[in-house]
Amino acid sequence: MNYELLVNQQRAFFNTGKTKSIEFRIEQLKKLEAVLLKNESLLYSAIYSDFKKSEFDTYTTELILIYKDIKVAIDNTREWAETKRVKSNFFNLPSDNYIIPEPLGVSLIIGAWNYPFQLTLSPFVAAISAGNTVIIKPSELASHSAKAIAEIINNNFPPEYLKVIEGGPSEMTEVLKQKFDKLFFTGSTRVGKIIYEAAAKHLTPVTLELGGKSPAFVTENCDMKITAKRLVWGKFLNAGQTCIAPDYVLVHASVKQKFLEAIVKEIVKCKYAIENNNYVQIINDKNFARLVALLDKSKICYGGKSDSNTRYIEPTVLDNISFDDPIMQEEIFGPLLPIISYTDINDVILQLQSKPKPLSCYVFTNDPKIKDKILRSLSFGGGCINDTIIHVSNHHLPFGGVGDSGTGSYHGEAGFRAFSHYKSILDKALWFETSVKYSPYSKRKLNWIKKLTR
Ligand code: NAD
Repeated sequence: MNYELLVNQQRAFFNTGKTKSIEFRIEQLKKLEAVLLKNESLLYSAIYSDFKKSEFDTYTTELILIYKDIKVAIDNTREWAETKRVKSNFFNLPSDNYIIPEPLGVSLIIGAWNYPFQLTLSPFVAAISAGNTVIIKPSELASHSAKAIAEIINNNFPPEYLKVIEGGPSEMTEVLKQKFDKLFFTGSTRVGKIIYEAAAKHLTPVTLELGGKSPAFVTENCDMKITAKRLVWGKFLNAGQTCIAPDYVLVHASVKQKFLEAIVKEIVKCKYAIENNNYVQIINDKNFARLVALLDKSKICYGGKSDSNTRYIEPTVLDNISFDDPIMQEEIFGPLLPIISYTDINDVILQLQSKPKPLSCYVFTNDPKIKDKILRSLSFGGGCINDTIIHVSNHHLPFGGVGDSGTGSYHGEAGFRAFSHYKSILDKALWFETSVKYSPYSKRKLNWIKKLTR
């Protein structure tokens, strides 16, 4: 494909100003909703082919968020796009001062494979709402899902406005040579650096939604039954292949035994199996082999079975883990849950402060002091108190990482902002003028300025 031509065509279309009309944006969002609804069965079958994800899981973890984003954008685009008046300051009286949100232009959205629809279409909604033209590049690893997205978008929208392209790293190397007005990337920290570097060559603004090792604290005074239920749900959803899944648990030594019993009981109760619509395959052989290599048999306290033919890995709990274990050296991104016990929360906080900032953090506690201590001492993208993952579903909460886990955020108005520039205008009246700032300068003028600015 001629990427240069595609980008030029999108820029020419953007420059016609058509995408800036609020009516046009809302019309396109409604059309997107309609074509997704019409093609839902294609989405279900594609993602099932990729990793045996059920219709239930696909709706509740992918489509529900996209439909919600579309509805929120349709209801709010007009208000988000309004010019906002702000006060003048003394020096600039008399003047009107206002901020005009404007679309950045031609944007490129690059997605990860683990939630192939949501991770491409949610930013897509934000980009349309903000008035951009968009090119989407879904992950080639969820190839059926990528094809389904391409079919749906490319058959229903003109390429000079919205286009899905397919390919892997080699195609991306070509794509990234082009000058975009916005790059929105979801994926690993390693590739995030490649994207950032490519963006720097053109000074293109970026949003980077990356990964990392997200901890979950289980303190001595938590509600153990609910903790186990919500932790197990968040960890084994999508077989642990979730960027904001609790990567590992830090449990207070005094409640560790009780906690282990509670989570094993919960895992058994959930009956995780693909045929039960609540479990999926590992995406490919490479990731399967990587995860199996992390299964230290001497530390398995529950689970551990795997099958390379079906790329199935049983929900697995590993006990007596320390920060030095191999499983603690990389993001797990699979159904393995290491447990580290602690006795002094201050020691754990010190350890975590020296590690890369994670995308999420979860705290299970009934103690407001511990909650406050963790929230104030650790930097991370976002998270939950007494739950996991679910903060992603509230569009009033900007979603994103910090440091190694990303830069920028989206969902709801934050998404609109990610694809907008806020143009600040000082609109000066003509009926008033003083000579104080103009040459020739004088001591008297300077004294005036000093008086007025102190
Ligand atoms: P990845 O970084 O391997 O790939 C992401 C995208 O980058 C894909 O579309 C891929 O084709 C493209 N890509 C790969 N190599 C490239 C290169 N050299 N140049 C340009 N583009 C390239 O990530 P993945 O395996 O698809 O996803 C897993 C990672 O994504 C995990 O670290 C996970 O935590 C993270 N993730 C983050 C979020 C979030 O919202 N922050 C969501 C999902 C996944």
